[in-house]
Amino acid sequence: MSLIVQKFGGSSVANAERLRNVAGIITDTYKAGNDVVVVVSAQGDTTDDLIEKAKEVNPSPSKREMDVLLSVGEQISISLLAMTIEKMGFPVISLTGWQVGMKTNSDHGNARIYNINSERLRSELMRKNIVIVAGFQGINRYDDITTLGRGGSDTSAVALATALKADLCQIYTDVDGVYTADPRKIPTAKKLDEITFDEMLELASLGAQVLHNRSVEMAKKHNIELEVLSSLERKPGTKVKEVVKMEKMLVRGVAVDKDVAKVAVIGIADKPGMAFKLFSLLAAKKVNIDVILQSVGRDNTKDISFTVNKANLDLAVSVINENLEMIGASKVVTKDNLAKVSLVGAGMQSNPGIAAKMFEALSDANINISMITTSEIKVSVIIDEAQAETASRVVHDAFFNI
Ligand code: ASP
Ligand code: MG
Repeated sequence: MSLIVQKFGGSSVANAERLRNVAGIITDTYKAGNDVVVVVSAQGDTTDDLIEKAKEVNPSPSKREMDVLLSVGEQISISLLAMTIEKMGFPVISLTGWQVGMKTNSDHGNARIYNINSERLRSELMRKNIVIVAGFQGINRYDDITTLGRGGSDTSAVALATALKADLCQIYTDVDGVYTADPRKIPTAKKLDEITFDEMLELASLGAQVLHNRSVEMAKKHNIELEVLSSLERKPGTKVKEVVKMEKMLVRGVAVDKDVAKVAVIGIADKPGMAFKLFSLLAAKKVNIDVILQSVGRDNTKDISFTVNKANLDLAVSVINENLEMIGASKVVTKDNLAKVSLVGAGMQSNPGIAAKMFEALSDANINISMITTSEIKVSVIIDEAQAETASRVVHDAFFNI
């Protein structure tokens, strides 16, 4: 007997038929003798619809009230799923984030979980109940409702799996696993049987939208084995875990992030402390920086370019413009229609030819690279957004279509 946490995304519980389908998966797991804790998201587009409703009455509502509103979506799902399972004759109970003691900080709309009081959960499991928990929501120390950020139910599931020391955490979704590239855009993309936490983290943060990034971080930290699988087909998905079988495959996938803008700060004084000044200013405004490139100095000046999310571009530019003199720069130049294409795989660190092969594929397709960055397990290039799809396809085909 095992303790299994199963998470079902919004499309998997979108209507009565889907709820019955999911109830079948859950009760089969229960019938096999397992303890089952289920986490669900809001049905279909419920969260987006709720956001629209809020806008109708107030274009900039407080984050606290938004959380009160958005948490409703998951509460609808847990009750409907519990009723569906009840009807099938199984013992079941639904619980909100508050009832399972999902304690978070007070960062409404993007709250972090710091503790789960698993007592209630354990006693329901002792009673042999199937437990259905509302994802995405928690409470802060004032007992106010918080939410974990869009897609946060994955993180709720991993947090519960961690608190209960579950044997497995299954994330059911509408795709049947993690692919070497986005299968909707690149038909030759292949499903992976296994992937490591680090590779998954890179893919998730680089734009593969299968798992909430924080859920992977947490699973890695607590060594919770994850499985990403389809709720519509009963077949094995992709396992995300620490060590994967040695395979010949050195690269694991290609990810595309279209939310990239570049800022170039021109003519910075070429002396110590300038990069420190520039990036401290940006950090003080909580602007996340991704790729950084510094030019070779000439005439006692240098240029520093970096990338940010498009939403942060205006803020970054205004902060720098206000402080041009202090960083001894002459001007700021920006470009906002960029994309980042990344090749990910733990096998890269010991294989020098990989970056060259990636650049060759891009060059053959006549794609100009504006910035490059590498780590032990990835190579990323910044290119024009208009070429993102072509770039990901040619890079993918260079490595996976042999
Ligand atoms: N319902 C929330 C959202 O749409 C959380 C989730 O689906 O994981 O973002
Ligand atoms: Mg999701």
